[in-house]
Amino acid sequence: MAKEEEDDKLPDKHAAKEFYAKYEPKEILGRGISSTVRRCIDKETGKEYAAKIIDLSSDSPSEMTSLEATKQEIEILRHVVGHPYIIELQDVFESPTFIFLVFELCKNGELFDYLTSVVALSEKKTRYIMKQILEGVRHIHSKNVVHRDLKPENILLDDNLNIKITDFGFAKQLIDAEELQDLCGTPGYLAPETLRCNMIEDSPGYSFEVDIWACGVIMYTLLVGCPPFWHRKQMVMLRNIMEGKFSFSSPEWNDISDAPKDLITKLLVVDPKSRISIEDALTHPFFHTMLFDQDIASLKQSLRRDSRRYSKISQIALKIHHRVFDPRQKFQWAIRVVRAMVRIQRLKYTPEPLSLETARFDPYRLRLLRKVVDGCAFRVYGHWVKKGEGQNRAALFENLPKTDLKQIYVNNLNNFT
Ligand code: ADP
Ligand code: MG
Repeated sequence: MAKEEEDDKLPDKHAAKEFYAKYEPKEILGRGISSTVRRCIDKETGKEYAAKIIDLSSDSPSEMTSLEATKQEIEILRHVVGHPYIIELQDVFESPTFIFLVFELCKNGELFDYLTSVVALSEKKTRYIMKQILEGVRHIHSKNVVHRDLKPENILLDDNLNIKITDFGFAKQLIDAEELQDLCGTPGYLAPETLRCNMIEDSPGYSFEVDIWACGVIMYTLLVGCPPFWHRKQMVMLRNIMEGKFSFSSPEWNDISDAPKDLITKLLVVDPKSRISIEDALTHPFFHTMLFDQDIASLKQSLRRDSRRYSKISQIALKIHHRVFDPRQKFQWAIRVVRAMVRIQRLKYTPEPLSLETARFDPYRLRLLRKVVDGCAFRVYGHWVKKGEGQNRAALFENLPKTDLKQIYVNNLNNFT
């Protein structure tokens, strides 16, 4: 994009003098309904940050204004600050038309994008990420705050590939045993009690447990790359959530051990009172396996965007995308696949050695091939790669504008009652 065009979209310099005096805004890192997040540089120190720029000009007087909502977000960010897995708010600037929230920069972007690039995470990586998420959520809850919008888009990865929970736009500090009623969050991650109290009269409100449910949805999605309750008909998805109807029957689950399945089953319990607590989740056998420094180092290496594996898949996907036929590459690829097949057959612990014959008739059964197929398909077709049993990877892209939630609720209400 041309520089002037980029600058055109930047808030009026006069309206935000203080911010521009201190920071040099750069490219866009992400967008929300009324916010744009840009990388920016502290002019004095040269240090990089992320500035969330909130446009107040579209505020309507009838609803909670962006100004009020942002003030609440700032208050909560300051209240939960001081934990390694929570995003740090560095600076705030206000002008009549814009608010600037300056955060520490997470160079490795969203967990969502990382997941999309690798399709699914191994148990080891899931353990590493989920432990941090649960510890971050434990800290938030210890401050009496419920996040209400936990999802891979709101979990960032910093330079050291540690997670940072961000986007406290829906977070709420609870007073005493206060219960909440409002319908907010992202459809696929909503807890059954949030839906129930909005759809069924006289149902109790909801509380901290909604974040634990969202952790279950995240963990399921990390392990297999598709979310547990997705259905192309939103109403069916919401009903599945309310009934806690999900399964481990898709072929990806065959390679996954019992401990993570057990933890997911305990996180995705419909009754919030019977749902596992964060404390118990953190001591669940899934987390008993020690992660040694060595493990973490190699893990971090493979998590890095410039890792060999990532770039290999990207290259292949790019080739497919641009429809470039490279016979040499294709030949090398075939050799690699055959070699991998031989290695798979030799594996002592492979429960059911698969022959090349099997690979020809049902390649998706082979984990390695499945990963490659999914990785390429993901890049080429993105949102319409169909999965069995009404599940669809499209759900990963389900990031409905927050304001649409009310509409979904209104549309679906009649079908439920
Ligand atoms: P919204 O409330 O509009 O969803 P978020 O706070 O979630 O706003 O930010 C939107 C997106 O901007 C994030 O999903 C992420 O891609 C990017 N982003 C936000 N904060 C940072 C940060 N500190 N470092 C890097 N990227 C960020
Ligand atoms: Mg967000």
